[in-house]
Order: sequence, then C-alpha cells, then structure tokens
Amino acid sequence: MKRIGFVGTGTMGIPMVTNLVKALFSVLAYDARPEALEEARRRGAAVAASSAEAARDSDLVITMLPSSSDVEAAYLGPDGVLAGAPAGRLCVDMSTIDPSTSRRVAERAKAKGVRFLDAPVSGAVPRAVEGTLTIMVGGDSRDLEEARPALAAMGSNIIHVGPVGSGEVAKLCNNLIAGVATVAVSEAFRLAEAFGVDPKILTEVISKSSGHTWAMEHNHPVPGLVAKAASNRDYAPGFMTDLMAKDLGLAVNAARELRQPVFVASAAFELYRLASSHGLGRKDFSSVYTFLKPSPREAPV
Ligand code: NAD
Repeated sequence: MKRIGFVGTGTMGIPMVTNLVKALFSVLAYDARPEALEEARRRGAAVAASSAEAARDSDLVITMLPSSSDVEAAYLGPDGVLAGAPAGRLCVDMSTIDPSTSRRVAERAKAKGVRFLDAPVSGAVPRAVEGTLTIMVGGDSRDLEEARPALAAMGSNIIHVGPVGSGEVAKLCNNLIAGVATVAVSEAFRLAEAFGVDPKILTEVISKSSGHTWAMEHNHPVPGLVAKAASNRDYAPGFMTDLMAKDLGLAVNAARELRQPVFVASAAFELYRLASSHGLGRKDFSSVYTFLKPSPREAPV
C-alpha cells in the first residue's frame, strides 16, 4: 500500500485525505493548525510533526496549501518538504498558486533530486467530497503516471497539460473565464430586471442562444432558477468570492509578467475584491450579483 505524506488538511485537504483513506492509501498528514491535523486524524490519517517528517516517511507527497508564499514556506522552510524528502521522492502540489512559484519550487526540488508536479484542482468542496475533482497537471508525464492512482482517488478528470507550471496556467485560465462569465451573467440579469423582464423567461431565451454559459446553467446568480445554485442557499459556497478574487489576481499578475493584456480579467478582479471588502468574501462568488444593485431612483446616474 502506498504511503502518502499529505500537507495542508484544510477545507479541501480534509475531503481529499478522506478519499485517499477510503481508497486504502495510508496517509501521514501534517498541518500548521493543530485543529486541522486533529480532523485529519479523525478521518483515518496518522499525523506527522512537520512537513519534513511527512515527506521523509512516505512514498508520495501531496500538498494543498492556501497561497504561493505558503507553498514556498512548506517546501523550502527549515522543517519543510525538501528538508525531509530523500532524492527520488515525488511531490505533487495541488494548491492554486502563481505558475512562476511552481517553477521555482520545482527547480529547488530538482537540485535535491526530488521530483515535482503542479496539479491544481477545479470543483471546490462538493466535488472534493465526491472524489470527482478535475486535476490539471504540469510536469513529467512519467511522474504523472506514478502519481495517477492517488490522484484518481480524489478526482475523475486528470489532464496532463504540459511542463511544470502549466497545470497552474490552465487553472487560472479556467477561473478567469468562470469569474468573468459570472459578472457578465449578473450584469445581464440586473439589466433585464430593471426593465421588468422575467428572469425565468430570460434564462430560457439565453439557454437557447449564444449567451449560454456554465455560470448560468449550473450556478445561476439569481435565486430560484437553478436548484443546485449557491444563490438558493443565501450564496453559501460553493467557491468563495475571496478565492475567485485570489485566482483572478494570480491570472492578472501572471499576464503582467509576460506583458499580456487582460482587460476584463482585471476589471472582474477589482469587482470581486470590492465585493469582498463589502462583506461578500466568504459567500459564493455568484453573490457578486447582489453587489451589482441599481442606484436609487433619485441618483443622477
Ligand atoms: P484552507 O485555508 O482551508 O486550508 C489550507 C491549510 O493549509 C490550512 O489548514 C493551513 O493551516 C495549512 N497551511 C498553511 N500553510 C502551511 C504550512 N506552511 N505548513 C503546513 N500547513 C499549512 O484552504 P483550502 O480552501 O483548502 O484551499 C487550498 C488550496 O486549494 C488553495 O490554493 C485554494 O485556492 C485551492 N482551491 C480551493 C477551493 C475551495 O473551494 N476551497 C477550490 C479549488 C481550489
């Protein structure tokens, strides 16, 4: 049985660990927060005292951490993954981070003879629980084949995108589209409402027309139209506004690094950030619709 060292047992990490345990992997978990680690123990994992220990005493390392700086700390820090991993160990970082950081960490790993894949996910908590995440992988295809049985316990679509960093690029491109589309759907339905058009009829029209999009079909921002949408649960996530702002920020920064203009991505990034600073950060990102209220009638514009 393969032993997995799993670092980062938070919101996404816990259901992923649970599915690895169900698939009969033996999991050695580490998290900087004792309560997160305790939850991993309740789900059937053994616990390590550091990322270094989790990496040393396992066959494969998986990390699921909040941000680029957390990934750098967890891999390159004094008690980090690279301090414990022997030469030849394979590490899979499933966090959503800046592609340049993935490449930098991969270079540092390579200098120690440690192999590295970036493998961010799409699907959020419900699909992490079901074990049906989409996993976008950057790195060597032989390394992916070695990691595949563990990845298959957590996801149902595992796609090799290209060299290290390109899994992250695919993830940021996907969320760029999802984030922008949700703003577009929200604006369109606000405009229709202002003219008194029935949102149910408009949904029917758009679903048969060129404006049809995943954002409307599966996560309609207007309550009462799509049963499974977060808007019907007072925008309980789903995928939080703060995470969408984070991912659009990563996309905008990555584009700036390569001098690639991204006009609507930048606008959507600022809008989600503003929605967050007005209290919607921990709601589903489709709550941006509630933020786009019309001005009062007496307002000049
Ligand atoms: P989270 O904050 O709930 O969990 C991350 C865990 O990492 C925390 O428990 C934290 O204590 C731990 N951690 C941070 N730094 C550490 C370190 N140096 N060493 C050990 N542990 C450390 O975050 P999450 O929602 O699980 O998200 C994880 C990643 O997955 C993020 O990059 C996020 O963008 C991405 N993601 C999240 C979702 C979602 O819906 N939550 C969906 C898709 C992708």
